[in-house]
Amino acid sequence: MHAEELQVPRSASLPRQFAESMLALLLPASCVVCSGELTESLSGGVCGGCWRALEPWTGAVCSRCGLPLASRAVMAGSLCAECRLERPHYDFARSYGIYAGKLRKAVLELKFHRRERLGVRLGRLLAEPWFALQAALGFDEPWLVLPVPLHRWRERERGYNQAGLLADGLARALRGRTASAGFRLDSKALERKRPTAPQSGLSVQARRENVRSVFTVTAPKRLHDRDVILVDDVMTTGATASACAAELKRAGARRVIVLALARATPQFPDIAAR
Ligand SMILES: [Zn+2]
Ligand SMILES: [Zn+2]
Repeated sequence: MHAEELQVPRSASLPRQFAESMLALLLPASCVVCSGELTESLSGGVCGGCWRALEPWTGAVCSRCGLPLASRAVMAGSLCAECRLERPHYDFARSYGIYAGKLRKAVLELKFHRRERLGVRLGRLLAEPWFALQAALGFDEPWLVLPVPLHRWRERERGYNQAGLLADGLARALRGRTASAGFRLDSKALERKRPTAPQSGLSVQARRENVRSVFTVTAPKRLHDRDVILVDDVMTTGATASACAAELKRAGARRVIVLALARATPQFPDIAAR
């Protein structure tokens, strides 16, 4: 047998090698959170162990803004210090978990790398706080699902809006679990009129100033008398969410519920470090 003939089966596997190397380019080879080996391809780049570690906050929260409260012995309906001082423009806000540990790492991956599948999958986690709130308050449908918008320059530069990916995942999860078409994603109804400095590092007052008159409703008719779920990746003081809700309500929205993937709070600097 000639050497050339022996090479036939090897060259036949070239398309497969090519397909595998293309796949390796498209999918991260290791978990984006822990850098461990990835065994499932449909994981959004996060290994099974890390997914299971993205725990929801199950302790007490402020009944209005959802801020996790340190004491478990909080009465139902308790408000945090901020909400006692001033009522936000949204009706209620809840977060899936605390911005710490693996959840924080996953959010940073979503924000700074284009991980669309991860974003949609993380968005599905927001169905949990939604159903908990719905069970407590008895909401009817339909709801519009809106992401907190980026300014169009920033969205163009980044290529995507991470809150938009989360909102997409949430809307899909809610439609799937309720067998209802009552959760429509609308990424265009709310707009950020100008780019703003990052909120991190600013005081509560400075955060409010930073987002004052920044958001606008593009088509008030679409919001009139509608109930809205507003989605963001991280909520800290809630100044951004409240500024968005003020505009949505001005346009005639009935109720605005804010759902964030992670809540940043100095009370729980990093639960993973315990
Ligand atoms: Zn991992
Ligand atoms: Zn509160």
